[in-house]
Amino acid sequence: MVNGHGSPADTLLLSSAPFEVLDGASALASTVGADRIVIYVSSEVDNAVETVGSAIDAYPDPAAPMEVFTGPAEYRAAEPTMAIEALEGNHRLEARLRPPGPERVGLDDQPTLVHTPRTLAHLAVALREGLDEQTRVLTVRGDVDPVATVELPETETLSELIDAVGVDGSFKAACVGGRFGGITRDLDVGLGPKALRDADLGTDGIVDVLSDTRCVVEFVGQRASFAAEENCGRCVPCREGTAQLASLLRDIYGGEFDVQAIEELDRVMATSSICAFGKRAGQPARTAIKAFTSEFQAHAEGRCPANDCFEALEA
Ligand code: SF4
Repeated sequence: MVNGHGSPADTLLLSSAPFEVLDGASALASTVGADRIVIYVSSEVDNAVETVGSAIDAYPDPAAPMEVFTGPAEYRAAEPTMAIEALEGNHRLEARLRPPGPERVGLDDQPTLVHTPRTLAHLAVALREGLDEQTRVLTVRGDVDPVATVELPETETLSELIDAVGVDGSFKAACVGGRFGGITRDLDVGLGPKALRDADLGTDGIVDVLSDTRCVVEFVGQRASFAAEENCGRCVPCREGTAQLASLLRDIYGGEFDVQAIEELDRVMATSSICAFGKRAGQPARTAIKAFTSEFQAHAEGRCPANDCFEALEA
């Protein structure tokens, strides 16, 4: 299964370079003897659906029949096992318990490999041209002008990535790794997955930039509220944990900043949630507290150093 749901870089690849993605998928299908290749995308991205559909029609001699399938637009529908549920026609989107993972019991109970269009396009290029230099495709959004998707060698850093796009204002922080990525002010971090993980950042190909007019407490509070509203409700650590996290972050505005409670809650969610949604939902708050402790403390004292969120609350 080619999971093109959710990431702007994946949508861009499907709508601008569909044959690269299909080449990678076909090569992988040939290697493992797959009998079906499914391209899964959000129902919101008509352009990608149309382009990849036309590419499938024109694709010569695929290793297995190819089809494009649209799933619900909700963020959580990108989670691999929820994507499989959607493909099987289940309207109630819930993650599956692991083990076994999809690689053993996946779509229609068959072993299913799930990869992003980025991975498969890289595979196609590597098979064609060799693996001289590993690159990453990342979308940079937020306080940048314009939002851009950039391909850079893994040996480059976040600093070079953000320089390639340009911040709208002065740089303050980046949330690296998608909606539940890690917050950092240090941009001297490589773009490869290992370097990002070592720096407690996420590896999804999305970087949200915050300029110095933005408040990180408000930012991570919004991410926690999103997690509380959008989780599938199947497991307690995520269902209750995300609600508690949003509440603990709101309490800061009332003068109560309980770092230990937030860290312990994040630890429980990360170790006990069924899927990546809950495992990662606390990462923005945990990493932001480390990088901006004094800013959180200032909020507990009734002050926003960015002069941002208290005014919004009073409005
Ligand atoms: S971690 Fe969250 S999204 Fe995943 S199964 Fe549990 S409740 Fe659902």
